[in-house]
Amino acid sequence: MIVNVLETYQNMVDIEVEPELKPDKGLLNGSCNRRACQKPGATWYNKWTYAHYCKDCARLINRSAFPEKLCEEVTNNNLKGDKS
Ligand SMILES: [Zn+2]
Repeated sequence: MIVNVLETYQNMVDIEVEPELKPDKGLLNGSCNRRACQKPGATWYNKWTYAHYCKDCARLINRSAFPEKLCEEVTNNNLKGDKS
C-alpha cells in the first residue's frame, strides 16, 4: 500500500518536472513548441509566438483563441507566399 502511494506521488512529481527542450522545438517539421508536448511533425505556424506546433496543439490554441485563428497549417502554397 505504502509503495503504491509513493509511486503515485512519484508520478505526480514527474508531471511537474518541466520536460527537457528538444533542439528542434518550434521549428517547421520539428517538435511541437508546447513544452509539455514536443511531438514531432510541427507543421502548424502560430503567428503570435512565431513557432510551430503539432496539429493537436494548434487546434487547442485555435479553439482557445477563437475567433482569432492563431495557428495555420504550413503548406507549400503559403511557404512560397512567405518568400515574396
Ligand atoms: Zn503539440
